[in-house]
Amino acid sequence: MTAHSAGTAATDVRDDSVRELESAFRGTLVRPADEDYDTVRQVWNGMVDKRPALIARCAGAADVISAVNFAREQGLPVAVRGGGHNVAGSGVCDDGLVIDLSPMNGVRVDPGGGTVRAEGGVTIGDLDHETQAFGLAVPMGVVTATGIAGLTLGGGIGWLRRRHGLSSDNLISADVVTADGRLIIASAEENADLLWGLQGGGGNFGVVTSFEYRAHPVGPDVFLAFVVHAGTDAAEALRFYREWAGTAPDEVSSFAILWHAPEIDEIPAEHHHAPIVVYLAVHSGDGAHAQQDLASLREFGSPIADLSDTLPYLEVQQFFDADYPAHEMRYYWKSHHLAGLPDDAITALVDLNENSPSLHSTLDVWQLGGAFGRPGPGDTAFGDRSAPFLLGIESNWERPEDDDACVEWGRAAFRALEPFSTGAQYLNFPGLYEDPDEMLRGSFGANFDRLVACKNRYDPTNLFRLNPNIPPT
Ligand SMILES: Cc1cc2nc3c(=O)[nH]c(=O)nc-3n(C[C@H](O)[C@H](O)[C@H](O)COP(=O)(O)OP(=O)(O)OC[C@H]3O[C@@H](n4cnc5c(N)ncnc54)[C@H](O)[C@@H]3O)c2cc1C
Repeated sequence: MTAHSAGTAATDVRDDSVRELESAFRGTLVRPADEDYDTVRQVWNGMVDKRPALIARCAGAADVISAVNFAREQGLPVAVRGGGHNVAGSGVCDDGLVIDLSPMNGVRVDPGGGTVRAEGGVTIGDLDHETQAFGLAVPMGVVTATGIAGLTLGGGIGWLRRRHGLSSDNLISADVVTADGRLIIASAEENADLLWGLQGGGGNFGVVTSFEYRAHPVGPDVFLAFVVHAGTDAAEALRFYREWAGTAPDEVSSFAILWHAPEIDEIPAEHHHAPIVVYLAVHSGDGAHAQQDLASLREFGSPIADLSDTLPYLEVQQFFDADYPAHEMRYYWKSHHLAGLPDDAITALVDLNENSPSLHSTLDVWQLGGAFGRPGPGDTAFGDRSAPFLLGIESNWERPEDDDACVEWGRAAFRALEPFSTGAQYLNFPGLYEDPDEMLRGSFGANFDRLVACKNRYDPTNLFRLNPNIPPT
């Protein structure tokens, strides 16, 4: 199974129209005959192999405006690419135009004002590098090659979520090129409905050329609790985690991850490749309290390893990087906001992990609440924040011949945990967008109609539709 039309040649756009675009373009245009075409069209998920007619690698907002106008006038499908890490591969398309912002990676920190401005192609690693130079951080995700654009527009959850909220909660303003080729500002003062829509409503409303965020004092060191339990203790470890998660202070953001033990020296050899449960918790507050706040999590049961340590925030941000190589591995991710973690849900999770067809796959129980949970459902497009946990279902594998089994495992996990869901999913873990209507209505709830109104205002012809698509009326 590959998310493309196998073997098809990309449609060529007319030479004279491309030459006209080129004359007004500061970045580069890449076409199927170009030497770097196969490199530039690649996205993170090795399952995705799409062949666009043209890739517009933009150098600035003027290029984005030219590219948007070109796509509209030529009637081409449009994919918008930030970091290229969308799991369903929505940053690239067959036979259309890719508006690629990855060359736009400038970051400017205002340390005095506690704000940061970052262009649309910036990665989490770029942003962390610049902000930590001033002892600041913007809440982002947990793998540094991920683009801030797609992540923020879908919400953005990471190690600071319970202390400072979602990435999108920290979005102050954005520069947006709309479908009619205008650049407008979305902020509390101008086009406030658009700012609201960008806070979780995805890439539906235009191309964001730059994001302005609030940044917070973090680090340079934080405390990471990293505790491993054997699969034989998995159910008990998850029951303890369920109770503990409700008592942790907001400085702590954590996961319980059902996985298979990697072959590393720190884990006893008899557990290698066997099911495990890992507690990972970051305490980003006062170092003097960190050990105490995480003591009970580390003391529970009989862990087979405890690798907890005080580490630079930048290092913690890179903790998972090596586990998610680009291009060479294949991925299918789904999610549920869980209304709780009752024993039946735990039994289902343990069973799924034991029967996973790939040792790389994980079931991630993200602790929510804290600053993440405080905004009301209508405050941002993201929607209801009441769930205490988010379940990330990550099917990760290596060989194309395992596609069917691994995608089916992800779908089986989604079905098995559905009875425990609030009905909302996290749209940045979207599978292959196979049930968009159910996914969007369940996730946005009462915000759905307001998002449609926003879509009607900023993209009434649905130029930007390769995303969790809000249909205009
Ligand atoms: C390894 C890995 C780890 C992850 N970890 C986390 C995590 O910790 N927390 C979390 O919340 N999510 C996480 N995610 C999910 C991530 O948030 C999404 O995959 C997100 O879409 C990635 O953004 P991107 O810019 O890299 O994606 P792209 O594929 O470039 O873009 C995805 C979509 O976003 C929109 N888009 C992108 N750029 C723009 C722009 N400039 N203007 C308008 N629309 C745009 C488009 O609709 C596009 O289709 C992770 C994903 C991966 C692959």
